[in-house]
Amino acid sequence: MTYLIVREPTDDEKLNMYILYKLSTYKDSIVGVYYIEELGYYGPILKLRDIPRELKDIVRPVDVNIVRRSLKMICMRCGWCCERESGAFMFENEAERVGLSRWSRIRTVKLINGDKVRVYYVDAGPNGRCIFYDPKRKLCTIHKAKPVICVVTYCARYAVDSEGNLYRRVSRSVRGVVHFKKVQTTY
Ligand code: SF4
Repeated sequence: MTYLIVREPTDDEKLNMYILYKLSTYKDSIVGVYYIEELGYYGPILKLRDIPRELKDIVRPVDVNIVRRSLKMICMRCGWCCERESGAFMFENEAERVGLSRWSRIRTVKLINGDKVRVYYVDAGPNGRCIFYDPKRKLCTIHKAKPVICVVTYCARYAVDSEGNLYRRVSRSVRGVVHFKKVQTTY
């Protein structure tokens, strides 16, 4: 199997949406969001047998040992991303999986290759809460079908290493370097 890191987002929305749109059909191959200090990389990693032709312009292989030495972001279920101004959205292929009738805001966006795709916003609850978030149980009610934007974005506050030790971020990113401190020996 090949581990792949994804081209990092830029300030070009058309490029970012292009990357996300392509990833949306490979969501099940995303093994997590990682911080790879030695590459200055913070983003999703995919695990696939080969590099699919349609992903060749947005991914590159990474050595599995580098992945093992890295930190994998984890969600502590504080709810912040989903509860307030979540801004979460789905592409049409994702929206179809959960039913298209519930959307309040639809936008057509142009990708960097000229294609146009429809984007369905799911942040229509109070204070921008995602309509799929259950605030009482503090969980996503469509966990397995959550959109790619929710799979690849993390608050980056907590992470685990390959041995299961828990880390907390103690600094902001400075030229791609973030500092984490081990806070628990098991998670
Ligand atoms: S789809 Fe799920 S993970 Fe994404 S914002 Fe909504 S509740 Fe949160």
